[in-house]
Amino acid sequence: MSIQVVVVGGGPGGYAAAFLAADLGLSVALVDPEVNPGGVCVYRGCIPSKTLLHVANLLTESRHASAWGVEFGEPKIDLAKLRDFKNSVVKRLTSGTGQLAKVRKIQYLQGFAEILDPHTIKVKKTAGGEETIRFDHAILATGSVPAIPPSLKLDDPRVMDSTAALDLPDVPKSLLVVGGGYIGLELGSVYATLGSAVTVVEMTPGLLPGADRDLVDILAKRVNQTMKTVLLNTRVVSMKAGAGGIEVSFEGDGAKDGAREQTFDRVLVAVGRRPNSKIPGLERTRVVVNERGFIVVDEQMRTEEPSIFAIGDVVGEPMLAHKASHEGRVAVEVIAGENAAFEARAIPAVVFTDPEIAWCGLTEAQANSKGRKVSVAKFPWGASGRAITIDRMDGLTKLIFDPDTERVLGVGLVGAGAGELIAEGVLAIEMGATATDLKLSIHPHPTLTETMMESAEVFFGQATHVFRPRR
Ligand code: FAD
Ligand code: NAD
Repeated sequence: MSIQVVVVGGGPGGYAAAFLAADLGLSVALVDPEVNPGGVCVYRGCIPSKTLLHVANLLTESRHASAWGVEFGEPKIDLAKLRDFKNSVVKRLTSGTGQLAKVRKIQYLQGFAEILDPHTIKVKKTAGGEETIRFDHAILATGSVPAIPPSLKLDDPRVMDSTAALDLPDVPKSLLVVGGGYIGLELGSVYATLGSAVTVVEMTPGLLPGADRDLVDILAKRVNQTMKTVLLNTRVVSMKAGAGGIEVSFEGDGAKDGAREQTFDRVLVAVGRRPNSKIPGLERTRVVVNERGFIVVDEQMRTEEPSIFAIGDVVGEPMLAHKASHEGRVAVEVIAGENAAFEARAIPAVVFTDPEIAWCGLTEAQANSKGRKVSVAKFPWGASGRAITIDRMDGLTKLIFDPDTERVLGVGLVGAGAGELIAEGVLAIEMGATATDLKLSIHPHPTLTETMMESAEVFFGQATHVFRPRR
């Protein structure tokens, strides 16, 4: 087979690239081991985790409803049905991507690719047999896999990575979550809501090390109520499979007062992901892999091998689906001869906990570490009419401005639905909006979006619902 563009890996980076290439009239092949495109995000990442979090949020709301005079009683959880629902969501989406590939006349090859030379790959098909493809350009979109350091490696089904945890084997009485990052907090809160006593162990002094502390503090308050224990500045030293559970020993702040050794029914290891750059045959090209395992690309997603591009988790952080898709589209535009580059000013990050936490652009911590002068305006959700109607005052909207130009440089949010609200922040940063632009844009009432407008009003000391005495 001879083709213009071959895409290796069918995740949100790879399939977005393949679909755009076909839309631009190029002949395209897409290779992935799964039956349909979707990758980690759809099969064992974003989508199944958000499905379970949706159900967890329903449980939390229904329990909380007694405070509003509505009593549902203790919910009965049918784990098999919940698992089926989650699987059906994945099936629906991946059948959709499969259909979309078909109608675009993309050659979808279910199998595993090996690079033979800078213009040829061989696909070992899942159904048996091999196919050799000659190509003008290849896009490597092989994603990432869970990183499990040797001290946390234990060949026992009770020690899970995120994929195993999403299978929802049972609701263990006790669960240790190693890592207080995205996956640890999202999946940890699913299990905690379903009834597990969850201990989170995080080696740094705080949860979600990349986010601003004032946002994390509000989330941490809730996490401390939902989880049994959060151990900060603490590490797992060793894990042993015992008859009664996984025997874990800790060191650090959380290892005091007889807590050094504990036994858990299950353990979820979520300490980061590593790029999947060990692509067979990559050494037959000039593609360079850096010391952290990421494929090196320029802002046009070109590797050192002129015919080969790379995108998504395999080229660097943040390892997020929307970043992968955007890079995929850039790579295709460059291949198609357009003058494109990846030059996003703001990549949104959302942690789908309860409350959600989201940020984009410059964080206050980054500004401080760079010594960059910024103005920060915050609007606490206790002053938001909408937040009060839904009984969710545990939120904060924060805008970071350039003090001279008054341009929005960063946005941080914590609160119910923060993940939806952050999109306005991305648009504001990309469009070079100023505090005045946000202040003068009429936001609908009563909505949480008003907190964006009112934060801008706070910047001028003129917020309707926040009184600041004149200086
Ligand atoms: P991937 O989605 O990793 O896909 C790579 C594909 O390439 C895989 O299917 C792999 O099998 C295939 N492949 C590898 N090698 C070969 C080869 N040699 N030949 C053929 N195929 C190959 N991100 C978000 O933005 N939002 C979220 O809510 C979110 N939630 C997540 C929850 C979990 C539990 C996890 C684990 C991740 C989550 N992520 C989330 C991260 C997101 O899944 C990744 O950033 C995203 O999937 C990266 O896309 P990608 O296209 O780079 O690669
Ligand atoms: P992470 O980088 O988000 O968090 C890992 C955490 O583990 C960090 O806080 C780190 O300090 C801690 N840690 C590392 N080693 C440790 C150890 N030995 N003991 C205790 N703590 C340790 O990684 P993750 O949660 O595994 O998620 C991987 C990536 O997947 C994320 O960074 C993100 O890019 C992506 N993801 C995104 C979403 C989302 O967008 N909502 C959800 C899940 C995953």
